[in-house]
Amino acid sequence: MIDKIFPETLKILDNLIKFQTVSGASNLDLIQYCEEILNKSGAKSFKTFNKSSTQANLFSTLEAENANQKGIVLSGHTDVVPANPSDWASDPYVAFKKDDKVYGRGTCDMKGFIACTLAVAPLFASSKLKKPVHFSYTFDEETGCLGAPLVLADLKKRNLDFSACIIGEPTNMKAIVANKGYNEYVTHFTGLSGHASNPDSGISAIEYALEYSNKLMELKKQLIKRKTNNRLFSPPYSTLQIGKISGGIGANVIADKCSLEWEVRPINKDDSDFVTKNIDDFVKEILLPKIKKNNSKGNIEKKVIGEVVGFNKEENSESVNLVCNITGDNSNGTMSFGTEAGLFQNSGISTVICGPGSIDQAHTVDEYITYEQLKKCLKMLVSLKEKMVN
Ligand SMILES: [Zn+2]
Repeated sequence: MIDKIFPETLKILDNLIKFQTVSGASNLDLIQYCEEILNKSGAKSFKTFNKSSTQANLFSTLEAENANQKGIVLSGHTDVVPANPSDWASDPYVAFKKDDKVYGRGTCDMKGFIACTLAVAPLFASSKLKKPVHFSYTFDEETGCLGAPLVLADLKKRNLDFSACIIGEPTNMKAIVANKGYNEYVTHFTGLSGHASNPDSGISAIEYALEYSNKLMELKKQLIKRKTNNRLFSPPYSTLQIGKISGGIGANVIADKCSLEWEVRPINKDDSDFVTKNIDDFVKEILLPKIKKNNSKGNIEKKVIGEVVGFNKEENSESVNLVCNITGDNSNGTMSFGTEAGLFQNSGISTVICGPGSIDQAHTVDEYITYEQLKKCLKMLVSLKEKMVN
């Protein structure tokens, strides 16, 4: 059975890679392609859009014999991180096959999973399913999970209920039962330019950015001390890091602009709130009055790029039990990067993360997925179908 579906899976993956769905760019052509495949199998689809209607989430359903049964959601994001073609050995947007691997941007994160779900759709469609199967493909997961909340709100409005959701992020087909949250910020500092020989003539945005950084590093240490009994994660505490600092034009000019890009990976909402409150209070009470005192044009502004809630381990989780049962993997692992799992879970859907490919290849130059992982994923989906007819 797997060998029969596999060539079709590769063909679909080739096509998916051709759509250059970098986060923020339009994914409408890809969504239309997926919708056509699913609708051909008899699925009913609806879409939710971003404000400018340039991006869409697709939610498609293959109905069961008994319409009242709660279904199973297969979920993936359609966006990919950018790729610089000059760094790659082959074109990142053309599937390149070698040594039983497919290379291309998004092969493992996570168009490989989407290709598997599309390839098995006709099999689900031709079976007498006891419960419906749903296909959920979202936009802009990589930049703060912007698409998923729209589709989840829409599902609420439609009063749809689900028994389980499988998110096919690359886990080497292991069942992942929890992940840390992911908060991303950029803080802009506006000072006043001037000649370096007269420091009082300007305001160095860089100096304020450094004070802000010091505060963040203080909070980073406090997060380690706040370590709970949560031993699920590695490291077992919330982390904070500054990933980029930019500003200034040269040693002899007072920098009028500086920005910091930083992130927090909280193990719980308390830690997320702790960082937000402390850094915001520090700016409001100390740093902003100081910069304004020197010049009213001075400013500090924190922009939230994305705040994605963590995914918590569920007691007796229906979806974890389902996937462990099918795959035989009982490792109950966790991850330290954010996914849409927490969002699905927070809207009351039992969720598990399990998909083909390794996170080591995600977001990398020459990203690839192995045939072996794709076949393992197809095997899981075919076994899932078997379970849904019995
Ligand atoms: Zn991903």
